Amino acid sequence: MEKTARILDSKEQLRFIELSQKLLKNKENEIGRRLTFHVTTFGCQMNARDSEKLIGILKDIGYVEKDDEDADLVIYNTCTVRDNANQKVYGKLGYLHGYKKKNPLMRIGMCGCMMQEPSVIEKIQKSYPFVDMIFGTHNIYQLGELVYLMLGGEDEAARGIEINRRGQIISVWDEPVGIMEDLPTDRKYPFKSGVNIMYGCDNFCSYCIVPYVRGRERSRDPREVIREIERLSADGVTEVMLLGQNVNSYGRGADFDMNFPALLREVCRVDGIERVRFMTSHPKDLSDELIDVMAYEKKVCRHLHLPLQSGSSRLLEAMNRHYDKEQYLALASHIREAMPDIALTTDIIVGYPTETEEDFLETMDVVEKVRYSAAFTFIYSQRTGTPAARLPMVPEDQVHDRFDRLLALVQEIGAEENGKLVGTRQEVLVEQLNEKEPGLVTGRLSNNLTVHLPGDESLIGRIIPVTITESGGFYLRGKKCTHIFQER
Ligand code: SF4
Repeated sequence: MEKTARILDSKEQLRFIELSQKLLKNKENEIGRRLTFHVTTFGCQMNARDSEKLIGILKDIGYVEKDDEDADLVIYNTCTVRDNANQKVYGKLGYLHGYKKKNPLMRIGMCGCMMQEPSVIEKIQKSYPFVDMIFGTHNIYQLGELVYLMLGGEDEAARGIEINRRGQIISVWDEPVGIMEDLPTDRKYPFKSGVNIMYGCDNFCSYCIVPYVRGRERSRDPREVIREIERLSADGVTEVMLLGQNVNSYGRGADFDMNFPALLREVCRVDGIERVRFMTSHPKDLSDELIDVMAYEKKVCRHLHLPLQSGSSRLLEAMNRHYDKEQYLALASHIREAMPDIALTTDIIVGYPTETEEDFLETMDVVEKVRYSAAFTFIYSQRTGTPAARLPMVPEDQVHDRFDRLLALVQEIGAEENGKLVGTRQEVLVEQLNEKEPGLVTGRLSNNLTVHLPGDESLIGRIIPVTITESGGFYLRGKKCTHIFQER
C-alpha cells in the first residue's frame, strides 16, 4: 500500500467533520445515549498541543469528553523519545482491551511519534488487533476523515488510507505535506495556550528519534502565528507558549523573511497578551539578537530552557550538538549578564555511550557554573534507527551512580537558587486550585517557578502581585500583596 501523503485541504477535512456529525448522531439515536471520548497524551508539549487539536475535532464531531479511558473512543497520542515510553504504551493497551471487552462499541485509536516507526505499526497489527485506527504525526488533521471511515462512512478520496483485513484503519505518512491552519482546537486552559510556530527538526542529534518521527523543519507563516495569537487574546488568553523543537531556527529556509527574534517582537505587540514563553531553544542557534529582544521586551518571561545534554565537549561532538563546553558556558553567562533575574533550566543525558567519569565530571562542572533553577535529567535510552544506537552502552551501575550524583547536585543548587526569591515581590499567573491543599491556589512566576498561595478560584487566570514567603526547593509559597508595587 503506497503510504503517499496528500495535501489535506482544511475545507475537505471540515466536510468530513460535518459528515461524521451525522453518522455519530444516527449512532447515538440508535443506542439512546451520547458517545464519549478520551484522549491520553504521552510526552512533550508538542504532543500536548496536538492533543488539543484532536480534542477540538472530536468535540466538533459531537463526541462528549470523559475524564477517564472508559469511553467509546479512546485515542493514545504517543511518545517514542525513550524506549520506556513505548513499553508504557504497550502496557496500557492491554488494560484498554479490558474496557473494550465490556463495551463492544468502544473504538481505540493511536497516533503520535511512536506510530511513525514501521516496526511499531507491524507490532500493533499483529499483537493488538483490537486497535481500530493508527495515524501519525504528519496527519493529525485527518482525524475527522478517519473517524468518518470508522463510523462506517464511504470515502472515495481515501488515498493513502489503508484498511487491513481486520478492518484496522491505517494512515501514517513518511513525510509531512505542508502545514494545515484553521482546524478546531480545544485549549486546556482558558487563559494560556501553546502556539506552534514550527514543526520538525533538522539537527539529528545522534541519540534523538525526533527528526525521524517529526520530519524536517517547517515554519508557520508569521501572519498565521500572529492571527492565531490575536484570536487567542480576543478569547481571553494572556499567556502564550511559542512551541517548536528548535524555535531558534524559525524561518530558516522559509519563503518569508522573518527570524525568531523578529517574530518574538511581533508577538509582544499583540494587545492583551501579557506573557510570552517559548520552548525549546538549541544553544547553537541562540543569537545575541534574541538575547537583546528577551532583555528589552517586558512581556517575555524570565525563563529560558537551554538543553545542555552533556558538559563534555568530546561527548557533545559525538552527540552532534554543534557546540562545546566553553561555548555553552559563554552563552549562559552572556544571558545572565543581559537578564540577571532569568531562570535557566536544562536537559541532561547521563550514560551516553562511551561516557567516562571524566566526561561526567565535566557535566557536573557546568551544572555548578550555570546554577540551573531546575534540570530534567535522563538516563540515555537507545533508540533504534539513531546513530548512537550502534554504540556500546555504559555499564548500568555506573550510569545509576552518576545519575544519583547529578540529581543531588541539581536539587541542591536548584533549592539554593529558588530560595533566593524568599522575601521578594513577584507576579504570579494563578492557574488552578491546589489539588493537595484546600484553600490554596497554584500558579507560576515569570521565571516558570510554581507558587502556592492562599486564594480561591476567583484568582484563576489572573496575574497578581505576591510576596514570596517560603521555598520548598522546586516550588515556592507566597501570599497576595495587599498593596500595589512598582511594575517590573
Ligand atoms: S534538537 Fe536534537 S534533541 Fe532536540 S529534537 Fe532536534 S534532534 Fe532531537
